[in-house]
Amino acid sequence: MITREDCVARDAADPLGRLRARFHLPPGVVYLDGNSLGPLPVSVPERVRAVVHEEWGTGLVRSWNDAGWWDAPRRAGDRIARLVGAHPGEVVVCDSTSVNLYKLLTAALRLRSDRKIVLTETGNFPTDLYIAGSAAAQHGAEVRAVDTGELHGALDGSVAVLLLTHVNYRTGEMHDLPELSASAHRAGALVLWDLAHSTGAVPVDLNGAGADLAVGCGYKYLNGGPGAPAFLFVASRWHDALDQPLTGWHGHAHPFAMAPRYEPAPGISRTLTGTPPILSLAALDAALDVFDEVTMADLRAKSVALCELLVALADERVPDVRVVSPRAAERRGSQVCLAHPEAHAIIQALVARGVIGDYREPEILRFGLAPLFVGFADVWDAVDHLVAVLATGEWSRPEFRRRSTVT
Ligand SMILES: *Cc1c(COP(=O)(O)O)cnc(C)c1O
Repeated sequence: MITREDCVARDAADPLGRLRARFHLPPGVVYLDGNSLGPLPVSVPERVRAVVHEEWGTGLVRSWNDAGWWDAPRRAGDRIARLVGAHPGEVVVCDSTSVNLYKLLTAALRLRSDRKIVLTETGNFPTDLYIAGSAAAQHGAEVRAVDTGELHGALDGSVAVLLLTHVNYRTGEMHDLPELSASAHRAGALVLWDLAHSTGAVPVDLNGAGADLAVGCGYKYLNGGPGAPAFLFVASRWHDALDQPLTGWHGHAHPFAMAPRYEPAPGISRTLTGTPPILSLAALDAALDVFDEVTMADLRAKSVALCELLVALADERVPDVRVVSPRAAERRGSQVCLAHPEAHAIIQALVARGVIGDYREPEILRFGLAPLFVGFADVWDAVDHLVAVLATGEWSRPEFRRRSTVT
């Protein structure tokens, strides 16, 4: 039997435990939803204040040069590059994940214009499927969405690009990124990875895997704040050939020449479109500071330990739920999902108790275990509340049956 004391002792011995103090976590809250919206890093309000008052308020338009606003997307990109196995100059922060998917998917279809299939899986995140549908239609191509087990078999000479999300948002299942990248290349296809549920929690080695393209999210495990700008990666070997569709002036070789004709910038800058959201970028940049102090290997080790604890406690204490996430750590991201027919009401009851996870269709209780700020006792407390919610039937109260817009 695992006791709360065991968990408290593990927290005390945890070398990453000190990093929790870098986040504003309201008292009494166990936050297991950092994979949906990362919490507020304590460094962010002061950084944003300084950018608002000093750089914007006093520096005014001069700050594009003097405060380094112009290069901010590339600077933040270089910091993220380290987390995903990319070289400096291969990652840039811009737009949303959805928009970046559109830009890179279209660029991939142009690079492989003799092929007409975007291969993905049926369980991919909806925005990926929707964007793939419209990008493909614009190129007379189509989306082939198959079940996970059929991906290898579906990789044939018609596939222009394999589009996959590394860690599945619903189940936490993690693809073998190097293996699928190699498989796509053997078929002559490009590969585009969505790292929304990986970056900042799961080590990724894009160049080690020979990946071509990737996108990722700023507001999940990177804690950049609601609507934080996203990022994209293009392997340097594609920089010269890459032809993306949203050719705005920030992607121009000489933006201030104000030339009537578009000429793509060299390097990753050609993926940019318009003016970056400087205030949001400042928040994301401040949020990235904490990653300078940790290795992805240490974060991963803690994430695996937290996930294993949750699975063990669920097995031991909550027989009414089924563990949906893979049990093998190497096939799982940084979340554990449990299935129960009343999952939606159960999550509401947990949130009312201060245990914040979320619900995903059709019957999934989703718990994100962000290793920067979640502790072992948090996991124990969350399961203890879950046991109580089920034992008392608390979830069946009418207020927990109402559905909000955002689940
Ligand atoms: C969160 C998430 C997104 C988010 O896209 P936005 O454009 O930021 O809304 C995209 N893809 C996946 C797989 C995600 O998990």
